[in-house]
Amino acid sequence: MATPNVVMIKDLKENQSDVVIEALVLRQGYETETNKGSTGIRKSILIDKQGNMIYAIMFSNVISQFKTLLHTNKTYLICNPLVKKINFNYVNVNPSIELTIQTSSVITEFQAIRPTLPMDIIGFVKNVRPLRNFTRPKNGTIGHLRDIVLMNERYETIDIGLWDDLAVNEGQLMKKNEDLAPIAAICNLRMQTHNNVSQLKSTPTTYVILNPQCSRAIELTEWLHATDTIHGVNELWTKKKFAEAVEVTLEQLAKKRNMLTENNYYCVQGRIKKFENNSSLFYDACNHCNKSTTKTTSGMSCFDCTNIPIEIVPRYKLSVFIEDGTVIAKVIMFGEIVTMFIGCPVEEFIKTRNKNIDDIITPNIESHRFLLKLDRTVTNSEDMISIIAESVQKPRSINSKNIPTKKQRSLRRLNNASKDRAKSYASTSSKRNVPITSESHDINIECEDDELLKEYTKRIK
Ligand SMILES: [Zn+2]
Repeated sequence: MATPNVVMIKDLKENQSDVVIEALVLRQGYETETNKGSTGIRKSILIDKQGNMIYAIMFSNVISQFKTLLHTNKTYLICNPLVKKINFNYVNVNPSIELTIQTSSVITEFQAIRPTLPMDIIGFVKNVRPLRNFTRPKNGTIGHLRDIVLMNERYETIDIGLWDDLAVNEGQLMKKNEDLAPIAAICNLRMQTHNNVSQLKSTPTTYVILNPQCSRAIELTEWLHATDTIHGVNELWTKKKFAEAVEVTLEQLAKKRNMLTENNYYCVQGRIKKFENNSSLFYDACNHCNKSTTKTTSGMSCFDCTNIPIEIVPRYKLSVFIEDGTVIAKVIMFGEIVTMFIGCPVEEFIKTRNKNIDDIITPNIESHRFLLKLDRTVTNSEDMISIIAESVQKPRSINSKNIPTKKQRSLRRLNNASKDRAKSYASTSSKRNVPITSESHDINIECEDDELLKEYTKRIK
């Protein structure tokens, strides 16, 4: 198809409508209410070949009409949008204009364009925390928030709060690929301080590029490959934390907490006395927030994630009582940690349900090391200390087999593929300003230089 006469974003004039724009979607957005009960609105961030950005705004009358269009990382031709002056009360990606998609607009997917994309921060996605939902006191609408943790090759980590559609769309995509060490490049974050705690947060102008292929991403991938090919970044980080964490007794945790430093990592070692009487080792969790779902007349649903489509995923939960010769403590483990503990992912465990927990771990014999962060995940009540473990290390057993799990095998394959790609890029491109491609959509974007996590945090603070 020949490219029609497209107009560049910088050349658009207010009130124009009879134009065609060729743009890549940087952030697709989602439908929200402007006020509780009011009509919906969806804002997408578009970028053209020249790197200029603009919001494409849809109101409820057209949202369903273009539901399957304007997806992140895809390029579209947009015919007949209405060019409007921006509302200066709101932040915008463009200094003067925005687009309103009309019922008469025509949107078609088109061949990918390669604009130059600035990015502020890049790192491995180490953790993707559960989605949190809240009601905005100002107008009663539902908001979403999800924290992610990025890590670089120096094991430096940074917490980033993704809001609203980024928490739901990009956050969920990261969570889905969490095991495969995805790399995220993010632009336009802002530092927010709340109760003396500073955190980087997304804004309405933030965009997230997953698995970019710029020089820094190649450096990160090469580092991961050289360091370890079968463990994910979170496991590497955990290994390092285990090595660095101060070993304490359960009694110190229970009775001398004030002598320890809040928010630091500690390690306890203990024997499992018994398992808590659980009917099941797993539960039906909401894929967004990890919370337990409930059976309703319309199927399983999550009471927290009411206005977004959810999936039910099985998730491990294991509670044990441990002792180390001082006191007894309850240790609760969720998800991936239990996978390490039991030796197979929950899906595999469900298939072999005849497997009894007593066949996997023998109480009173095996001693385990538990990694914990001294924060609200450690609680004292009725003389029993309760710990949500961040990770667990099994004592090295002579019988333990070193067969890589399915996840480890796929990570190894992915790393090999990235290494080959990195090699071919190294031979064909200059070190900076190399094309980056997204794993999932196969598009090319060029990116500018970035900074290391720590330097970026310092500067933005
Ligand atoms: Zn949920």
